[in-house]
Amino acid sequence: MKKVTLLGATGSIGQSTLNVIKANEESYKLHSAVANYNVKGMVDIVKNFAPERVAMYDSKSAGELKDALVSLKLKCDVLSGFDGVCEIAGDGEAQQVVAAIVGAAGLKPTLEAVKSGVEIGLANKEALVMSGTIFFDAVKKSGSRVIPIDSEHSAIFQSLPEQAQNTIGFCDLDALGVRKILLTGSGGPFRQKSLDEFDSITPAMAVNHPVWSMGPKISVDSATMMNKGLEFIEARYLFNASDDKIEVLLHPQSVVHSMVSYVDGAVLAQLGTPSMQTPIARSLAYPERVAAAVEPLDFVNMQPLSFDKPDFKRYPCLKLAMEASRLGQGATTALNAANEVLVQCFLDEKIRFTDIAANCRKALDHFACEQCDNLDDILRIDKEARSYILRIIDRD
Ligand code: NAD
Ligand code: MG
Repeated sequence: MKKVTLLGATGSIGQSTLNVIKANEESYKLHSAVANYNVKGMVDIVKNFAPERVAMYDSKSAGELKDALVSLKLKCDVLSGFDGVCEIAGDGEAQQVVAAIVGAAGLKPTLEAVKSGVEIGLANKEALVMSGTIFFDAVKKSGSRVIPIDSEHSAIFQSLPEQAQNTIGFCDLDALGVRKILLTGSGGPFRQKSLDEFDSITPAMAVNHPVWSMGPKISVDSATMMNKGLEFIEARYLFNASDDKIEVLLHPQSVVHSMVSYVDGAVLAQLGTPSMQTPIARSLAYPERVAAAVEPLDFVNMQPLSFDKPDFKRYPCLKLAMEASRLGQGATTALNAANEVLVQCFLDEKIRFTDIAANCRKALDHFACEQCDNLDDILRIDKEARSYILRIIDRD
């Protein structure tokens, strides 16, 4: 029985992870779970999965959860606040920690899990975008290993040889004969929308992804393709790849989840029905495979598959992230922070869709030369970039 700790349990990835655990009850046990303030969601998790302990980041919600569990006569320790979240993340008692908190909030808890030396199923790409180098220094030090959950990175992982799978963060792509990593992306809901209508895009339109059902932040990131940009940076760190080893391809059907092109002309890909339960199952079961409650691909009735180059005029955020990647960790941290604030402002209807890219550009220019090689610097730049963006928005 493999014990699993789930960070971000009430979210989209959290729920998909619970579906996979439920489909394989004889193999996996939810050891503990963490969320922000969704008390009802956490009560259901305690009821259905009986974890030993849980934590709510929001302390008022932790109090409400305790009361709810007492009245339902459910036994489970409830921790609260940032310390409670980090305590559960880093207790080292589960064999795998699934890191699925959204955004920069996941950085410290995920690093605590890495430091405890257990296996990490990594969904929280922002953590890696902010801290790639120190993240993998910590992996090396603790003997932890990372198995990607982001679907593209899971596909790349599966298309690389075992030697690379065993050295995530440190593999030598040239020695393995890798020509290019081909990172695919659907292009989101506005792939064919006229560019002069972009100013009038509403949050409801942006979160309505044609293929994937996801949390609000990553849905907006998919519409701007900042998501693919963050994934570009994520791929660099996971596969120890230089910028020119990664090529982004538009693939609207989201059937090919990414590919690896080798020097001999061979291209290996992972295909599947679009469902996060496949990469989650891959991560939990590796090196074995378990059922993920996902429909198999129907090759006969599927839409023809198409591939194209992304247009940077349509997706300026993708270009910004690739630029930040070349500049270094200070720039990627600042861009990530700016984007997170701007996406929330867009969801709150305080700015337009096109203001996300325009203000990310300003943040990247402002923080381009920031260097950082330790966690304190990363957290400082994250904080400064957030206040910088809020000042700009208030001024405009
Ligand atoms: P979501 O918004 O649906 O869920 C986020 C979860 O994080 C919730 O459980 C929330 O309670 C928790 N959370 C937020 N702030 C917290 C805090 N400070 N402390 C503790 N818990 C906190 O997001 P999601 O779509 O599930 O995405 C989660 C992560 O996985 C993101 O980094 C995203 O980029 C990545 N990811 C998601 C998908 C997907 O299909 N949803 C695919 C690939 C990667
Ligand atoms: Mg992805």
